[in-house]
Amino acid sequence: MKKKTRRRPYAEQRPQDLGGGVWSVPVPIPGNPLGYTLVYAVESPRGPVLVDAGWNHPDAWEALSGGLASLGLDVSEVAGVVVTHFHPDHAGLAGQVRDASGAWIAMHESDAALVRLMIEYAASEQDGFQSDMLRRAGADPSEVRDVMGTRPTPPAAPDRELRDGDLVDLQGRKLRAVHTPGHTPGHICLHLEDADRLFTGDHVLPDITPHIGIYPYDRDDIDPLGDFMESLDRVGELVPLELDAIEALPAHEWIFPDVAARAAEIRHHHEEKLDRLRALLAQRPEPLTIWEVAAMMTWNRPWDDLAPMLKGMAAGEAAAHLRALEARGQVRRVSGVDPVRFQALDS
Ligand SMILES: [Zn+2]
Repeated sequence: MKKKTRRRPYAEQRPQDLGGGVWSVPVPIPGNPLGYTLVYAVESPRGPVLVDAGWNHPDAWEALSGGLASLGLDVSEVAGVVVTHFHPDHAGLAGQVRDASGAWIAMHESDAALVRLMIEYAASEQDGFQSDMLRRAGADPSEVRDVMGTRPTPPAAPDRELRDGDLVDLQGRKLRAVHTPGHTPGHICLHLEDADRLFTGDHVLPDITPHIGIYPYDRDDIDPLGDFMESLDRVGELVPLELDAIEALPAHEWIFPDVAARAAEIRHHHEEKLDRLRALLAQRPEPLTIWEVAAMMTWNRPWDDLAPMLKGMAAGEAAAHLRALEARGQVRRVSGVDPVRFQALDS
């Protein structure tokens, strides 16, 4: 049974004036079924501040700068870019916006730390190691450049780091960072408190749910799914008493009226998934590997039909669900075996 989606292709998306000094610009993600990132601009006396920037690609840059221009905004006047999380469809173009305008880039300190690691890693001997290997194999310099160039470049390092509750530098408005870890450790939603709107990034989307995984799979010192579910509750708690709902401005799909209702629905979806997984494990008394568990779970197509990369991501999700059940005392990790295995606990 396939649910009908309201999702429309990028070709049908248009830049929009959302009123109250907020605009949206769809920015394509080439070759990705998600289609586009919704980049938002918020008016300020020093120039617009962007929420996310889009994928780093010439077509995306064209769409962003052209889309802003069609709304009467100039990319060279952007005052700042606040990034909901470090993923390339959000942070990718931030560096080019900064180059064009002198804007600052801000993100949560936890994602900023990851970006610094990625930049260090890309610049380290790892790079030399790979290009050396290619050269020694007889690749000519242009081929070495081509191969090295296909690796994704890390996002630009931020100039400012945000923590939970910080106000973004936006004169005359109140835009507050709400730390919502789960999809990434430093994911933030941005609450435009003077207009009762919430920029939700990937945290709360109207139809799909973000990927929540653990990498490496066998880490036991973090609980991203537990964090994500708490972050969903946090978003529900933002609605002021005198209001029925806060409007959600997500980074993908479409704008929707009630962020708390959708957050509760996503939380319910994961609670059910955890219950089903626990029931599955209870039927199989022997300890199972993460891979075995992933193959038993329900995905959007049969396990055997999943492309290898998607199997890898499914295993990451399975690991996150196992870890969440472990944190709740419902599953135990069998230590001292390789690969690591999990087993249901009676309760
Ligand atoms: Zn993302």
